[in-house]
Amino acid sequence: MTVCNALTSLDEGVLTLSTLLEDLWSRIGVLEPKVRAFISLADPQALTAEGGTLAHRPLRGLPIAVKDNICVVGFPTTCGSNLLRSFRPPFDATCVARLREAGAQVQGKTNLDEFAMGSSTEHSSRGPTRNPHDLECIPGGSSGGSAAAVAAGEALAALGSDTGGSVRQPAALCGVVGLRPTYGLVSRWGLVSFASSFDTVGLLTSTVADAAFLLRVIAGPDSHDPTSTVAGVPDYCADLNGGLRGVRLGFPADYVAPMLTEEALSLTERWREIAREMGARTVEVKLPTFRYALPAYHLLASAEASANLARYDGVRYTPRAEGRTALASLTASRTEGFGREAKRRIALGTYVLSANHTPHYYKRAQRARAAVSGEMSRVFRKVDLLLTPTTPTPAFPLGARKADPVAMYHSDVFTVPASLAGLPAISVPGGTVDSLPFGIQLVAPWLQETLLLRAAHALELGMSSS
Ligand code: GLN
Repeated sequence: MTVCNALTSLDEGVLTLSTLLEDLWSRIGVLEPKVRAFISLADPQALTAEGGTLAHRPLRGLPIAVKDNICVVGFPTTCGSNLLRSFRPPFDATCVARLREAGAQVQGKTNLDEFAMGSSTEHSSRGPTRNPHDLECIPGGSSGGSAAAVAAGEALAALGSDTGGSVRQPAALCGVVGLRPTYGLVSRWGLVSFASSFDTVGLLTSTVADAAFLLRVIAGPDSHDPTSTVAGVPDYCADLNGGLRGVRLGFPADYVAPMLTEEALSLTERWREIAREMGARTVEVKLPTFRYALPAYHLLASAEASANLARYDGVRYTPRAEGRTALASLTASRTEGFGREAKRRIALGTYVLSANHTPHYYKRAQRARAAVSGEMSRVFRKVDLLLTPTTPTPAFPLGARKADPVAMYHSDVFTVPASLAGLPAISVPGGTVDSLPFGIQLVAPWLQETLLLRAAHALELGMSSS
């Protein structure tokens, strides 16, 4: 069931909210013990009761799942961290407030890698989420709970966050749609900060139309977030059926091909043909700076993370570990509270920001970021959108990369360039590789969500008829 279908069925009176909630919760009852997508869940009876008062609003009381690093009143916001196990935010994130205003209800909070740092949802103090397509595999991350909930039919749609790929990569590995909007289009107010100059709130849905519909609800300027854009919010659904005719699609073959297996490469090639058959003009593009994107991302994101996570001091937000002095207590609280991956990022970030190393690492990474952004701007004079796979491989087995951070980071090699440049990008289901879902990514210029969603919708139709 999609959000748009559910709304139509509710309007036509062929579905009631209470039946919809019953169906969802019976799926949750069966699947959740295996998939473990949620950290906390609402009471379905309360949602049914409250839904009655929302029937006249655009979202009619529909339940939406929310990643557990986005603040929602009435639920803990744990960020998948032991450190925030008892933190209850006193306010709603702007994206959540806007969904509620439009008549949606929060169904529950979904699992994630601690503080959204990871690509497999294994770095969560709650234990991993599993991929509904193969329970022995990871769902991707860090929004793995949101992606798995939508893929399993436990949620109609979910909010996620995408810093370096955390909406697009799990969407690809779970076979759902994942949209990362332009940086600043959706307010970050109430999204727990990881790397503030990259963080975005994104959507995981089962169709592009649902993503377009929900984006309109959550997007737009917000006085609480000085980095939110002042751009207006168009009706992203209006142009959804515009097709691909005349659209210039860039294929960065030199950067993509060496990283793919034969099966993944031939699937990507197949997409090129499908796009051409649909009237797109396909153009080969060269993106030599993209090979610096992944290391630059990890240096800059870790630097920002080390500063952002400094606020967890055992005094605010979190239970305190006792120590004889204030410093001992702070040290004990952080040592007990953070997991391995968060500690690794704090250590790396602190190192690259230390006076001796700033010129070698932080400054160079900033230059690489500028080079990637510059190259994107140049290439978007020649093409309207870029098309790449979302990830180099489909979902991998649980545990396969947990002890090998570099292999884990490699999952994001195709998603980080758009993150460095703050550009909108989407992953749509593109078929299977090794019998597991494989995603196709489109990247658009700054604030070109209308074109991005229209093209993604066309590919989605191409997928269902291919
Ligand atoms: N997987 C990437 C990382 O580990 C991206 C995370 C994200 O987008 N939140 O940093």
